[in-house]
Amino acid sequence: MEHTPFWWSAAGEPAPLNDERPLPTHADVVVVGAGLTGLSAARTLARAGQHVVVIERGPPGIGASSRNGGQVGGGHRLPAVVLDAQYGAETATRLLREAHIDSVNFFHDLLDSESIECDWQAVGRFRGNWTQREYDAAARDTDRLNRRIGLAAHTVPRAEQQAEIATDLYCGGTVFPTHGAINPAKFTRGLAQAARDAGADIHSFTELQAIRREGHQQRVETSRGAILAGNVLAATNGYSGPALPTLQRRIVPVPSFIVATEPLGENRVRDLMPAGRVYVESRVRHCYFRPSPDGERLVFGGRAALFPVSERLAVSQLRKLISDVFPELGAVALTHSWRGFTGFSFAQVPHVGTVDGVHLAMGYSGNGNTMAPYLGHKAAMRILGDPEGETAFAHTRFEGRFWHRGRPWFMPAADLKFRVQDLWDTMRHTR
Ligand SMILES: Cc1cc2nc3c(=O)[nH]c(=O)nc-3n(C[C@H](O)[C@H](O)[C@H](O)COP(=O)(O)OP(=O)(O)OC[C@H]3O[C@@H](n4cnc5c(N)ncnc54)[C@H](O)[C@@H]3O)c2cc1C
Repeated sequence: MEHTPFWWSAAGEPAPLNDERPLPTHADVVVVGAGLTGLSAARTLARAGQHVVVIERGPPGIGASSRNGGQVGGGHRLPAVVLDAQYGAETATRLLREAHIDSVNFFHDLLDSESIECDWQAVGRFRGNWTQREYDAAARDTDRLNRRIGLAAHTVPRAEQQAEIATDLYCGGTVFPTHGAINPAKFTRGLAQAARDAGADIHSFTELQAIRREGHQQRVETSRGAILAGNVLAATNGYSGPALPTLQRRIVPVPSFIVATEPLGENRVRDLMPAGRVYVESRVRHCYFRPSPDGERLVFGGRAALFPVSERLAVSQLRKLISDVFPELGAVALTHSWRGFTGFSFAQVPHVGTVDGVHLAMGYSGNGNTMAPYLGHKAAMRILGDPEGETAFAHTRFEGRFWHRGRPWFMPAADLKFRVQDLWDTMRHTR
């Protein structure tokens, strides 16, 4: 079995850029991290005439961006009632509109204007509900969303679910017709090219070590020398480390694990997922899966654990989750297994803002293919002082916790809590 993302077999491995050229000593903006956030921000800034240097610890895209599940669509995780309670109806509506509509439009504009070829498939998303109570809540939420932001989502009751997916595991679900699928490695590579075409200077194998204020400027110390910058944007999400200590305390890195099966044949894959969509579920273990772009395989991800575990354990957990959803696939051969870190904010909603004089956009909480490019662009516009930088995501909560100093020691306990919660939900409700 290969331990690199399945996507790389079609897109190629993320390739280094400029790691032999000397780093510039000055820049208008230094962007830390060359994933979807950093590359999108760099593109916007460079197009506005800024001298932008992107520094990346590995090759561009080596973080979550080129290894994710390739599911596209920004808002299915944000229930309107929760956002209403936390932010008030007006801000909640803006958050929902930006997540469900504006970020998806931004994604399509990017593909069109930069001619990014990334196997985009407009297949829609089915979100399966784990319990009847969740289905009832999802039906109310879908109705609210459709009325408030003009989304054309619809619910599918359990009795009609087999037209979407060949499983009885879920108690019905919601279909988001504007969502879809990509090869995320191709998307990230395309965005890196777009940023370079705009004039951004991307340096791989260049690790941020510290940021120090020097008058009105920031001295960005890296493994390959220092850069004096007017502004710094942290685009490090689930990979934020000790060089950004205040951000590290506000973001929890949650690992997510994925496998790809051997080719099963288009007919068999179509039998499993008749609607051919991308699929997620409301269960806290949160499985997400889809056909591969050629329709031959199942690509299946989930929280095999909430903390890094051995490859063997991750694969055996994913096998179990696969056979929960598709019992006949329990013994299927797997060809690829890989993992990456998602970045969760404590509010589980992304945030754009400034902490300790450093700009940031992060906290996508596992849902970044449209949100990261969109909020990277917003963060860039804010640096430029452009009114287009206004976003409701600048008003979301982004606090730390006194007990989280950087190393997420509490994740094994959280893992246990979520497993118990899943069991409890399963026992308590009609399934
Ligand atoms: C397994 C998995 C599956 C997912 N599935 C989906 C999905 O199906 N749909 C979806 O919408 N989202 C999904 N996501 C989430 C999505 O991938 C992320 O939200 C998105 O890629 C975040 O982009 P980013 O640019 O902010 O961060 P990343 O792509 O993680 O980039 C951060 C970069 O910062 C660099 N960095 C960190 N520290 C430093 C430093 N000190 N110096 C220099 N560089 C540094 C890292 O090397 C990394 O490349 C998934 C994530 C994972 C891990």
